[in-house]
Amino acid sequence: MELKNKIKREKSAALFAEAKEYFPGGVNSPVRAFKSVSGPPLFIKHGEGCRITDEDDNVYLDFCCSWGPLILGHNNNHIRESVIKTIAHGTSFGTPTKLGNELGKLIVDNNRFIEKIRFVSSGTEAVMSAIRLARGVTGKSKVVKFEGCYHGHVDSLLVKAGSGLVTFGESTSAGIPESFAKETLVIPLNDREAVEEVLKQYAHETACIIIEPIPANNGLLLQDKDFLVFLREKCSEYGVLLIFDEVISGFRVGFEGAAGVYDIQPDIITYGKIIGGGMPVGAYGASKEIMSHIAPEGAVYQAGTLSANPVAMSAGFAACEMLVRDGFYETMERKTKYFVGLLEAFCHIHNYEVTFPTIGSIFWVAFSNKRIQAADEIDPESMEKFKILHHELLQRGVYLGPSGYEVGFVSSAHTIEDLEVAARIIGECLHLANNG
Ligand SMILES: *Cc1c(COP(=O)(O)O)cnc(C)c1O
Repeated sequence: MELKNKIKREKSAALFAEAKEYFPGGVNSPVRAFKSVSGPPLFIKHGEGCRITDEDDNVYLDFCCSWGPLILGHNNNHIRESVIKTIAHGTSFGTPTKLGNELGKLIVDNNRFIEKIRFVSSGTEAVMSAIRLARGVTGKSKVVKFEGCYHGHVDSLLVKAGSGLVTFGESTSAGIPESFAKETLVIPLNDREAVEEVLKQYAHETACIIIEPIPANNGLLLQDKDFLVFLREKCSEYGVLLIFDEVISGFRVGFEGAAGVYDIQPDIITYGKIIGGGMPVGAYGASKEIMSHIAPEGAVYQAGTLSANPVAMSAGFAACEMLVRDGFYETMERKTKYFVGLLEAFCHIHNYEVTFPTIGSIFWVAFSNKRIQAADEIDPESMEKFKILHHELLQRGVYLGPSGYEVGFVSSAHTIEDLEVAARIIGECLHLANNG
């Protein structure tokens, strides 16, 4: 079905046409191209609180929040001022800085699950380094991942399951040697039998199991705490390290991320997104013992020219300073529950098969009444409904990430009134998506 624009997006369309001359697909990160929804991507020129403004001067209530980092909303005063103050002294020295210490201390002192941390510049880099660390510590090479979890564009993790309970990965991207993909085993989420089986067969070769403890990159596939506890126990039993990839969930569901929420001690944790306050920062952390394997202390090499640069550190510090304040996460969760409650009530009254899985300030629009906990339980057909929803929302000034597999984020800048307005508009558009 052809979806027509009522609002002007001419400037975005023209810029996108131009961008296609310079960038593959017109973008610098693939989902931005709006391939799974309709129309040209929006070119955004300004963000303030929970609102973004595109080049055509349309204003949207934003629930993408730069894909998660902006838990304090756009253009937060405190972060901006901190960055401006720092940048006046230069942007990068390639030396240690006091600001790096300050952010490191703030995080480590307020997180029971890591004793030392290393800053990098993206989530992908954090995961790639954590995998190398796990391999260095254990002297083993295989990695187990779960179908439906995303860990950045790390070679050995861009793999999907073949057929069968426990399978060697098949790469999901060209350019990944089969030999790399074969180092990765892929199992379904929420499946104890698969965990047992993979460990029984491959523990002697396996360095680590990596999981998004709150899988939020392929819908929101909330796992039972029991399953995560089971995973922890089995990893310890079989001498395999457990990595929590908390690039999304870290600093989002609580300052200690999912490890804190579920009270589970992984061996290594990766961070990204929120940790940089909107600047490019990633990190990985673990016990002192495990982190002692990293160069220059240990033999696992990992480095970065712009790692922990002062500008990024000052943005991260300004953000984290606000997140550790009492009640921050409680308020975020209460607001998000209220918002999701409005949406669920609406769908219930109208008998729409739509639910809104949620945790902390994350939510997902699931076109299903069933609880979805594994990737293969998502009906690909439902993405057609999302496409209509997304398009109609743009017409009415609400911006969700441009794919039905993406989750939405509430920021501290969304007021109750903003959420009520958004819920009413989303309801209106769900009418169209369901009767479309
Ligand atoms: C976003 C994300 C990554 C990748 O982070 P980038 O900064 O985009 O490289 C890795 N893991 C998870 C869980 C993520 O959500």
